[in-house]
Amino acid sequence: MDNYLKCSSLVAEFFRSEIGIDSKDGEWFILDKDHPEYLNFIDESKDEPGMLSFHTRGSMAKYLIGELASYDQLYNPKHRIRSKPGKVFRRIYACSGRDISSNEIADIVRKWEQFINLTEVVYVFDVVQGEDIRKSYLVSNSYVTREGKRMGSCMSGEDDQEYLDLYVDNPQIALGILKVGDKVAARSLVWNDEWYDRIYGCDNFACDRLERYLQEKGLKNIRQASHEIAIKLDCVEYDYYPYIDTLYRLDMDKSMACNYYPYGHEVRTCRETNGSYEENSLYECTECGYEGNEDDMYCIDGDMYCSECCCYSDYYEEYIIRTEARWSECMNTYLHEDDATYCVDRDDYTHNDRAVRLFDGEYADNEDSELVELYNGDYALSDIHDLTFMDYKSDYALTEDVIELYDGEFALQKDCVELFDGSWALDGDDDVVECFDGIYMLECDTVETYNGLIASREDCEQLFDGSWALNRDPIVEMDDIDEVKYA
Ligand SMILES: [Zn+2]
Repeated sequence: MDNYLKCSSLVAEFFRSEIGIDSKDGEWFILDKDHPEYLNFIDESKDEPGMLSFHTRGSMAKYLIGELASYDQLYNPKHRIRSKPGKVFRRIYACSGRDISSNEIADIVRKWEQFINLTEVVYVFDVVQGEDIRKSYLVSNSYVTREGKRMGSCMSGEDDQEYLDLYVDNPQIALGILKVGDKVAARSLVWNDEWYDRIYGCDNFACDRLERYLQEKGLKNIRQASHEIAIKLDCVEYDYYPYIDTLYRLDMDKSMACNYYPYGHEVRTCRETNGSYEENSLYECTECGYEGNEDDMYCIDGDMYCSECCCYSDYYEEYIIRTEARWSECMNTYLHEDDATYCVDRDDYTHNDRAVRLFDGEYADNEDSELVELYNGDYALSDIHDLTFMDYKSDYALTEDVIELYDGEFALQKDCVELFDGSWALDGDDDVVECFDGIYMLECDTVETYNGLIASREDCEQLFDGSWALNRDPIVEMDDIDEVKYA
């Protein structure tokens, strides 16, 4: 035995085509001669398909010692040791001093299994419709691998076949299949001759081959579509439904199969394996995305909102969007922000129609009990602003605009005159007179002189006849004296 690992032409072809390691004349890795457990003359097991068989140093010694073994002797299954391919591949790599991970081993095993299948079966691809879809699901028509594996499906039993009516009846739905002989080894729904769906197969190899076939036909993987897809169907109304992988929301109102929830429509969700379905009619909150039944949702301007995102307004007698709502304490209702005026003094809102502009540019509710109309038509709040009542106008004014009169009343300064002593009186007060010299005085403090002048009593002398004369005008005084006799 030389230091080359030898293998059958089948195994050599596997390594050449699938692993990319070329071997010449069945020779492969150079073996580590010091390794006690190396194996050689590797072949596919003849009596257990998929397994590998080989010789160890021991079995070689037992059956073939001292001889150049013939091909028949070497590959006679009776003399050979059988093992799972994973174990064998691991040992091959170990014997040749190479490290390899479990994942790499698993990958090689998978390739080996595919390789074995490929070498002995004929694959047929097809896209079928109608009753052929039902046939392709039947368990009795599905291919079984040598390892006993077949396609998984919840709809392969005889009793389940009526679940498939949706697929059978609608021409928009077809089934891509991969057959081994006359048995189905892999299948995939095809929608609208545009999309292929999840692929079911007896093994990865079958799935890969069918997917490659569907892609070569120009179909796209519907499970990788990032956008909303809805396929219009002829009929969606059934008693039973299949478990649908991708377009499992049936919009009963629009007769469509969707990969999204068609909010606001009657929806049947087909994700049950027993033919049943879930029926509901959900709405999505426009604001927060919450999904709720119609009873939990409120329609505002054609959009749906959850109870968190809207609020009832007694004013409009309908719901409004919460982010656009302003609570009015004075009206005890929510108002839409467009209709609401902020009243800064009350930290409250009122309806625009009830808002009264105050003298300072702020607003108040027109039913505010403290709202006062001032003498000039301005408004103020009596508990906020400093106001003074003016008897002569029977109205209020801002305190800063009024002055106190000599008699304790209040009036606007512009309506007043200043008296000689610095106190104030209303212009036009019957008790106030303007003296000849322009000074205002209370009438009771003045006299009218003989010559018709109004003057302060203190500035005058009373004449004998009871009339008055200014005492500060000496000329007038002298003339008068001649005729006057003091009492
Ligand atoms: Zn919401």
